[in-house]
Amino acid sequence: MTIKKINLMEVCGTHTMAIARFGLKKLFPKELTMLSGPGCPVCVTPEEDINLAIEISKRKDVIITTFGDMVKVPGTFSSLEKEKSNGADIRIIYSPIDALDIAAANPNKKIIFLGVGFETTSPSIAMTVKIAKKKKISNFYVLPMLKTIPNALEAILQTKNRKIDGFLLPGHVSAIIGAKAYKFIAEKYKIPCVIAGFEAKDILDSIKMLVDQIKNKKPKVEIQYSSVVNNEGNINAQKVLDDVFVENDSNWRGIGIIPKSGLKFKSEYKDFDASKIFQLEARYFKKQSGCDCGKILLGIKNPKQCFLFAKKCTPSNPIGPCMVSSEGACAAEYRYGRTLELEN
Ligand code: SF4
Repeated sequence: MTIKKINLMEVCGTHTMAIARFGLKKLFPKELTMLSGPGCPVCVTPEEDINLAIEISKRKDVIITTFGDMVKVPGTFSSLEKEKSNGADIRIIYSPIDALDIAAANPNKKIIFLGVGFETTSPSIAMTVKIAKKKKISNFYVLPMLKTIPNALEAILQTKNRKIDGFLLPGHVSAIIGAKAYKFIAEKYKIPCVIAGFEAKDILDSIKMLVDQIKNKKPKVEIQYSSVVNNEGNINAQKVLDDVFVENDSNWRGIGIIPKSGLKFKSEYKDFDASKIFQLEARYFKKQSGCDCGKILLGIKNPKQCFLFAKKCTPSNPIGPCMVSSEGACAAEYRYGRTLELEN
């Protein structure tokens, strides 16, 4: 009897890392392949946006504030880390509210927070902007690079030659948007979906649920991570997001523009938009690095199929963002996948 090959895509960098860290791949039958999707916010941020942040960082009247991973991501000719060593004022923070504190303490500087993230991060950014407006802190800005997951999944499903039989969906994003946001995947595309927790057992249980759906040919959206996720999501967080942001078309690394897959400021909050204040356009400089992050994020290639993997591209010398981010597929494969090979 021939056993059907199954390709599942995990759409969350934390799942990518957990699968690698727990060594789950060595438990999977050879018929099952896990593909890493666009679930790491740093990895999906396009080079043009990194170039824009670098350009802003060179201004003397600016302090850039960002989460740690972003500083290492290469732009076309530089990175924020390199600009920092050249004297740019770039500060690593742990919450958007830290950026607001820096703004209050430095009234003569423009404080730019790099707004990178999915629905998990964007409510706290929206709330920070609301606080800034209320407190009349006028030197705080966000460079909006926020992305939303459901329409990115639809773009993947519309990719030619896609080979995805089911989605292991993100727990944290789903806690905000609710299971209902993915209903179209099961109904229109007939692809099974399971929202999964992050322990090894959660992930294995979720994969079993996906395989059962495939076997029974009854695609639906199931919630394995039911202690945190429900059908409706977090209504308060959704309201804060709706107050400040509106959907817009967004550029994803390696995928291109996906309709309604990002967030931009509503007109009431446009004064907080760093890209408008500095009137800068994202710029693309053609330079072939050979990085295959785009294909990896679409599930078309795996990290080891990139000819730079573990040779020219390593965590200490990352060529692309998938090797930089702690949740990137290439970083996970570099850190844990090679150990598995040595064990086998
Ligand atoms: Fe890009 Fe490096 Fe991953 Fe290759 S190994 S896809 S160069 S990040």
